This record gives sequence, C-alpha cells and structure tokens, in this order.
Amino acid sequence: MTSSLTVRPSVAVTQPRDLERLIVGQATSDGAGVKLTRVLTQALQRRLDPYLMLDAFGTDNPDDYIGGFPDHPHRGFETVTYMIAGRMRHRDSAGHEGLLQNGGVQWMTAGRGIIHSELPEQEEGRMEGFQLWLNLPAKDKMSAPWYRDIQSAEIPEFRTDAGVAVRVIAGESHGVQGAMQREATQPLYLDLHLPDGAQFAQSLPIAHNAFVYVYQGALSIGETTVPVQRMAIFKNQADHDGVILQAQGQTKALLIAGQPLNEPIAQYGPFVMNSNEEIFQAVADFKAGRLA
Ligand code: FE
Repeated sequence: MTSSLTVRPSVAVTQPRDLERLIVGQATSDGAGVKLTRVLTQALQRRLDPYLMLDAFGTDNPDDYIGGFPDHPHRGFETVTYMIAGRMRHRDSAGHEGLLQNGGVQWMTAGRGIIHSELPEQEEGRMEGFQLWLNLPAKDKMSAPWYRDIQSAEIPEFRTDAGVAVRVIAGESHGVQGAMQREATQPLYLDLHLPDGAQFAQSLPIAHNAFVYVYQGALSIGETTVPVQRMAIFKNQADHDGVILQAQGQTKALLIAGQPLNEPIAQYGPFVMNSNEEIFQAVADFKAGRLA
C-alpha cells in the first residue's frame, strides 16, 4: 500500500464483541495437488453463515501450486479470490478469461453454473492468497453466472488516524465504500495492515456473523491473543456495536462479516444448494454438459 492514503478518523465502538473461539486451519490439498490451509471448514458453515469456506495458500515452493485448479464446476454461490502475491490465469466455459495478480480480487458469481480453470502463470516465486466462498440466497442460486476482475488499484484504501491501512474489498468501513456490495448477504471484507500496537475498530450489526484471520503478526482481542494463521470467531452479543482489534507487532489480518441467510445449506463438493434434490440436479446437469 502507498503512504499517500486518505486518513479517516477512527470510528467509536463503545461495547466491543467478545471472542467465541479460535480455529486452527486444516492442511489439505485441492485442484491438481495445490497445498492449502482450509480455515473455514464445512463444520463452520452454519455458524458463519453466509460464508461457506475460506482457504489460505502461501508458499515459495512451486511444487505446492504448479498444478493449479484445472477445469471444475461451481453452482449456487460466489467465489472471492484475493491474491496477495503471484499470478493466476482464469478461464471459464462462457469464454471469459482474466489474470489475477498481486493485490487483485476475482469476484465470481457461479449462479446456475460455470466450469472454469484457475492456473498459475508463473513457474517459480511466491504464491499467496485466499479464496472465500460466499453463499447466494435461494432466489439467486440459479441466476446467470457473472464475474468481475478487480485490479489492485481499484480496491478502495484508506488509513486510520492510528496508522492502520485498510483495503475495503467489500462492504463499508469508516465511511469508505468497498469495491463490491451485495444486498442479501451484506459482506464486509477488509484487509488490515496494522503497525505494532495500533488499534482498529469496526462497527457491525449484531446479527452479522464475523471473524478475523491473522496472516502476519498477531492480534489482541480483549484478553485473548490471536496468533498468526489462526481464525477467531466473534460472538453475536446484544448491545455490542462492533469489534476492536489491536496489533502485536506488524500485523496483517482479514476481517470478514456478513448477514446470515438462515436458509438450509446442502453442499456436495463445488455445488452448494438448499436441498439434496437440487444437489442431485446439479450433478446430473454437470454430467450432461449443461453447466458449460
Ligand atoms: Fe473454482
């Protein structure tokens, strides 16, 4: 981030939410052998509604990422890929193609279905980033597929008077509108870069589920330390108007929140619908070539 960011006064959060629990991600691999950490797993989908998954990847070893994610389908939700370092080329069955790189975001609405590939466009060097899955309300699950490549320079950024640099990928923070808005799920997606000791406050509606993921340094939240590569889930408490984080050392973290859909969740791999019948239909449509 540049040092010339607009400075916004800190917001007041008078009664910060407490932490509910810390989560250690699960090491796994996906696609053609890409090593990653699944931070938000299927077991947390109800608790963190409308979010379905968060994967973190970060490695200097090409063997961990070189296979990428060859052609695969999605239906019923949105994928938000945030690239911190590296270059990934995506292509889909509708003929779209784009390059996701350093600091950029690809926001894809799978809707009724798409088949796409996500392949590294580098043979060496660091690959680091995140993929977040955001659910769609039942009424939009069969909508037309859509995506937007958001270059790094298009992501609104500001600095708080405490020196925290904030990238607003989605939602609104300190009066700054993010690159993306979604009516049904009201996603808030912030990338926070905090100098040692700096506090950051974010107001949040009580009903919105919220969590933070530390990818460098550590955070103090209340009496709890959230170390690097941990997710912390905030409680939803009446009369608590937001969250307050404090950096221990130079710290980078994602703060993510959203309005729950409170609808049934049926997932089978890359298909997320509301019922098993809809899942069987998705698999049948995929096998019959109707997602392409
Ligand atoms: Fe995908």
